[in-house]
Amino acid sequence: MKIIKINSLKNLEKKLLPASQAIKKGHLVVFPTETVYGLAADCFNSQAVNKIFLAKKRPYSDPLIVHISNISQLRQLTSNIPKKVKKLIDIFWPGPLTIVVKKNPKVPEIVTAGLNTVAVRFPEDKVARKFIELCNTPLAAPSANLFSHVSATDLQHIIEDFKNEKYIKYVIYTKRPKYGIESTIIDCTKYPFKILRHGAIPKEEIIEKTGFKIIEIKKVTSIKKSPGQFKKHYSPKKPSYIIKNPVSFVKKTKDTDFVIVCSNQTKSKLLKIKPKLVIIPYGNNIKNIARNLYFCLRLADKMPKKKIYIEPVEMTKLGKSIMDRIIKATENKWIDI
Ligand code: AMP
Ligand code: MG
Repeated sequence: MKIIKINSLKNLEKKLLPASQAIKKGHLVVFPTETVYGLAADCFNSQAVNKIFLAKKRPYSDPLIVHISNISQLRQLTSNIPKKVKKLIDIFWPGPLTIVVKKNPKVPEIVTAGLNTVAVRFPEDKVARKFIELCNTPLAAPSANLFSHVSATDLQHIIEDFKNEKYIKYVIYTKRPKYGIESTIIDCTKYPFKILRHGAIPKEEIIEKTGFKIIEIKKVTSIKKSPGQFKKHYSPKKPSYIIKNPVSFVKKTKDTDFVIVCSNQTKSKLLKIKPKLVIIPYGNNIKNIARNLYFCLRLADKMPKKKIYIEPVEMTKLGKSIMDRIIKATENKWIDI
């Protein structure tokens, strides 16, 4: 696993060339996007895509998102782009919005978990786009972390999860991603569209900019209808809980064997009560919190403490996407003090 560190866009093609050649040979490459780091394979090479599942220990029932670097690649993945879908992509691409559309039969079954639909995204990150362009093929790419673990937003996270992974030939590393949480996924196969995963673009923003009706999926009833909607996901290894009111909890408890992940404001309040607490602040505004959450959870996991307590955020707009991650990271375990 070689690391290609990109500090500037100068000579970008030359720097990315070896990694794109590795993709063409059927190997895996970790690459940056504006959401989280991705683990990529040529989406038309089933054997290469299979290596993603092996490296991540990901179940085959969980379909992958295919990443493109121009709209003409979308035509390789789906044969018909309805008007409303065209409007969505005109507004939000390139960017952190994934659309699920009817798949072209050429897309291998392993990519889509046997479904007749495919999830597609056109990232805005410049390095991601240049890399896909050089590979000259759409790239199937889930997040670059072990299955159900916290997504990778830093080089250290990728190394932690894949140190000795033989299928990954290169890691292209730039910086911490702009958004820090995954893309928003919309099922566009039927109108009204359905939100399959809350993510970097809030549902409200999509409704506001398109005027479309977008509905929530009802309770998950079958894996076929809502693939990848696992109860546990984005999880630290330590027991983790949502702590409704960190201040009153810290006042009451005698225990100190925990790390608290909370806002900068809450951190200041807590330190006044108990100066020796281990606290990892995730920021103050909602965009910052999204950007820092995974980084903080990975850091909390490394601290010499037994448990992780996470302060919730308000369940509106981007906060909903953040809470979706926090709820899955903790398996919805709350401390209600
Ligand atoms: P990630 O693990 O971030 O790569 O996201 C992949 C997720 O996208 C899966 O877990 C599914 O929830 C969703 N997904 C991918 N392909 C499809 C599809 N064809 N239909 C519905 N959801 C999909
Ligand atoms: Mg993932």
